[in-house]
Amino acid sequence: MKEIILIKNGELALKGLNRSNFEDALVKNMKRRLNSLGSVSIRKAQSTIYVEPQSDDFDFDEALERVSCIFGIAAFSRACVCEKTVEDILTKSVEYLKPSLENIKTFKVEAKRADKNFPLTSPEISRELGATLLKAFPHLRVDVHNPERTVFVEIRDYAAYVRAEQLQGAGGLPVGTAGTASILISGGIDSPVAAWTMAKRGLRLNAIHFASPPYTSKRAELKVRTLLSKVARYSGSINLAIVPFTEIQDMIAENCPEEYFTLIMRRMMMRIAERLAEKSGSLALITGESLGQVASQTLPALVTTDAVTNIPVLRPLIGMDKEEIIRISRKIDAFETSILPYEDCCTVFTPKHPKTRPTLSACEEAESSLNIDELIEKAINDTEYSFID
Ligand code: ATP
Ligand code: MG
Repeated sequence: MKEIILIKNGELALKGLNRSNFEDALVKNMKRRLNSLGSVSIRKAQSTIYVEPQSDDFDFDEALERVSCIFGIAAFSRACVCEKTVEDILTKSVEYLKPSLENIKTFKVEAKRADKNFPLTSPEISRELGATLLKAFPHLRVDVHNPERTVFVEIRDYAAYVRAEQLQGAGGLPVGTAGTASILISGGIDSPVAAWTMAKRGLRLNAIHFASPPYTSKRAELKVRTLLSKVARYSGSINLAIVPFTEIQDMIAENCPEEYFTLIMRRMMMRIAERLAEKSGSLALITGESLGQVASQTLPALVTTDAVTNIPVLRPLIGMDKEEIIRISRKIDAFETSILPYEDCCTVFTPKHPKTRPTLSACEEAESSLNIDELIEKAINDTEYSFID
């Protein structure tokens, strides 16, 4: 039996005149994500997107899995393709709907006849199919007001489609429709969640990671790549810049007061990230900071890190508790990777008594013996680029 995936859009429906742009972006993203699974046609018609396998070896289950991660899809369903005859619709429905109807008691049928040449009207189709299903599954009752399951039949241009339950999509907006931003990604729990949260609102992602070999190992870098590939299942491919940070950390450790280490480090990261963002076409930075979570994330501390950048810094987790963040981390299958115990460049140099109420001028004073411009230039020159899919 031939199956397809049908996508109906939720929030996209609100976008008025932009609607068509958003839908085109979604179709393009879907093609990118599904084309490698085999021959498939993805097209939109009358506010529905049709994913139709064109060969038997198309990996349908993996396609469903991937569709469930594509932003801009509120709900989707798998459907059985029938010839546009009453007979074919009735026969195929019984077989196709068996698993969905076996374990429930009440149902109803909703029919929609887009092709007015079809011999039965919508209410007639509903009645016919309802009667056939009752006969095939005698344990069922029809309940038009509060059914446990609704069976949908649609008579369209080229075929009729029968489907049962809808599956929940990833929601959000198609990636790319909101522009591009750069996520500062560490190996921790928070930054992958921040990346996912902003991709959900339609941002395409670039990523920046600061590595400090030999204080941080190759495995720590691999962990970051793994985390990004988890995010990329939702966001699509991500360009990654790995910035060598060892020299900067050494210079800070040698020349600055210990209680300012983390803050100065964060200010250096933001300065470099801003430059890399400009180079890669990102309009904003994204971090995984959450208010008050650690000393460098108090409001006075955030003021000192914000002061060194001129582009917006998006902090989607700012008002979230750790539990809420972990819930998302688990949902996107990042958590188990995030808690692997590889060292991060920030943990290597954590001061014993970090400043929690720093002032901007004290920070500037604390870093005044560094040759900031030169350090930044060197780090940017030695940055390595790769691609996460
Ligand atoms: P995370 O769980 O994301 O590591 P965290 O709670 O450990 O966050 P910090 O270590 O203070 O907090 O880092 C705050 C934010 O700074 C991170 O969410 C991330 O966006 C960025 N960041 C920290 N370390 C790095 C790094 N090595 N490379 C790139 N960005 C980093
Ligand atoms: Mg961290």
